Amino acid sequence: MNIRDTVTLNNGVQMPWLGFGVYQVEDGPEVEQAVSKALEIGYRSLDTASVYGNEKGVGKAIKASGLPRQELFITTKVWNTDQRKGATMEAFEASCERLGLDYIDLYLIHWPVAGCYKETWQAMEKLYQAGRIRAIGVSNFHIHHLEDLFSGSDIKPAVNQVEFHPYLVHTELRQYCADNDVQFEAWSPLAQAQILNEPIVTELSQKYAKTPAQLIIRWDLQHQVVTIPKSSTPHRIEENAQVFDFEISTDDMARLDGMDRNRRTGPDPDNFNF
Ligand code: NDP
Repeated sequence: MNIRDTVTLNNGVQMPWLGFGVYQVEDGPEVEQAVSKALEIGYRSLDTASVYGNEKGVGKAIKASGLPRQELFITTKVWNTDQRKGATMEAFEASCERLGLDYIDLYLIHWPVAGCYKETWQAMEKLYQAGRIRAIGVSNFHIHHLEDLFSGSDIKPAVNQVEFHPYLVHTELRQYCADNDVQFEAWSPLAQAQILNEPIVTELSQKYAKTPAQLIIRWDLQHQVVTIPKSSTPHRIEENAQVFDFEISTDDMARLDGMDRNRRTGPDPDNFNF
């Protein structure tokens, strides 16, 4: 396995297992430098969202890289206020324009806004059928949201991107997604760095002679979870990509799983107010 390896989504589209997240990376030089560094190292999947306010900078770095468009896998997301306004089509076009792209590889419903997400999905299905999006998916969906979406929609989400790290292991949701051919993707895979000093993590990172972040990213991959760690620090962007030269044993995977305490760094999708 290496940084270019992909998983085949339920519609046949290939998505890299390891991508680069840009939440809380400021638009302008900060995001441009971070994305340029990531692309230089070999990341080909980028995860942004309209609400991150940095699609323009991501687009600039993509253009500056000179990489062929088909080599890249770009994810962005429709924000909650656009869902409430019924403005998914407009939001999609605005994201494309800011990114300087005429199609998106993966477009996600950012949060399951009650009473809105089914209508949002219908608009996304139209964009998908028109060839503007290669795969459509969801984010922050519990099982009950997925069940609700499945009833009455033509296309199944290719991906569910949710908070996932050893404090929040999501055994049931992961199994449900696997059973229904929805690829599970981790956001905040490092629990925003809060997990890196945990004694089990430091002990195992020493055992494998890797850093705590590398251990956790590898744990995602061995769970067949697509993952998108974020960093604005050049040496960490590089470090987080060096996860293909070791293997965590079954026992040690179980020890990391055992850190689960249903602890979130972000809100519960059943209880968000934005
Ligand atoms: P992560 O779990 O990826 O953690 C990022 C933090 O960890 C930053 O503070 C970073 O610091 C630090 N860090 C990164 N690498 C290392 C390392 N090797 N050693 C030590 N510290 C490190 O958090 P995010 O919340 O950013 O999640 C990743 C991505 O997931 C986002 O960027 C976004 O794309 C997506 N996301 C999606 C959400 C959704 O609702 N769909 C919600 C939240 C995130 P520094 O940058 O200073 O190096």
